[in-house]
Amino acid sequence: MSKRIPWESFTDSARLITLEILRDGPLSRTELAARTGLSSASLSRITNPLIKAKVLLEVPNCEPTPTGGRPLEPLDVDASLEHFVGIKLTGEAAFAVLTDLRTQPLRTATTEIHSHEPASVLKQMADLVADLAQDLAVRAVGLGLGGAVDNYTAIRSAYFLDWHDVDLKAIAKPLLEMPVVATNDIESLLEAENWFGAGREIGSFAVITTGSGVGGGLVLNNRLVTSPDAGLGLIGHQPIDPTGGPQCERSHRGCASAYLRCESISNQTSQRLGRPVTYDQALDLAAAGDPEARAVVDQAGYAYGMLIAAVANIALPQRVILTGEGWRLAQVAAPALAEGLRYARNPLAAEVPLQILPDDPLIWARGAAAVAIQQSINELGLAD
Ligand SMILES: [Zn+2]
Repeated sequence: MSKRIPWESFTDSARLITLEILRDGPLSRTELAARTGLSSASLSRITNPLIKAKVLLEVPNCEPTPTGGRPLEPLDVDASLEHFVGIKLTGEAAFAVLTDLRTQPLRTATTEIHSHEPASVLKQMADLVADLAQDLAVRAVGLGLGGAVDNYTAIRSAYFLDWHDVDLKAIAKPLLEMPVVATNDIESLLEAENWFGAGREIGSFAVITTGSGVGGGLVLNNRLVTSPDAGLGLIGHQPIDPTGGPQCERSHRGCASAYLRCESISNQTSQRLGRPVTYDQALDLAAAGDPEARAVVDQAGYAYGMLIAAVANIALPQRVILTGEGWRLAQVAAPALAEGLRYARNPLAAEVPLQILPDDPLIWARGAAAVAIQQSINELGLAD
């Protein structure tokens, strides 16, 4: 059984210190003082009880101090104290991961979704959590889904599940014995990257996802940019060429979705070829030099470059991460993408570093677990 950390008794400073160490630890006391602005006396007053309670550990450090004095022992969090489950939920399936306090994956499980009825989906989630937990106590569950979520519990809309105004807390309460926090799946992906991906090296980055829709988000100075409208997929209908290009399901001509959705790419390629092809087949044909598939994929790649430029020109990120089910487009259409990006950037501006992240449900599920961990520590959205 894992032990429960009494986060509710922590002061704001104690939470801040624990979060800093969780993210980047082990950290020396000097580094912690610099990050939190606390004096070394205040730091000791806050960390000593946490060390005594075995939430923080002193890590043996063999490096002597420059003055040859007693080595300073960096502080780390005992990540095995609490366990969390992160779930990536789509209209068809759920992928779940059991993690420690640092989102390290311990066990994973997948299930197909039988019905979109909220109570039925939550019952399946409860069964998944029970399967994963076995003898461990799960502190909280994080649910990442495509949609807009208010206060981590009220699902305003989740298009792929046909959910509107679903009160997650009320439905989950009789089914799960622990708090459940929901977030837009792209927000959870951004948190995942912020905690254990790109965010460990750089402070500001953007993520753009393509797949059944086009989404995106931003981390600035290691903080996720949040808004009640974050789950509405606003970037997805950014105009690229309103005078031309394909049409999206909302009748926009030449918006980002019209160019970049997997379905749009497969439909356009099928039309040109006169036979049905899947998204992956369209990309494979383009890669093999088929002129019809190449034309569609390059047009999409050029539009992708212009969309990346729009994000980079305004947000000035240090990196743009390209992922989602449609992630291969950035590879297959790389030259056209670079051309679109060049067209919409000032030649004097620095090159935008791009990172292609192959789609993996584990990243999304770990992100949902990261949100559950943060909310447990901050106790937001978890109060009854
Ligand atoms: Zn559109």
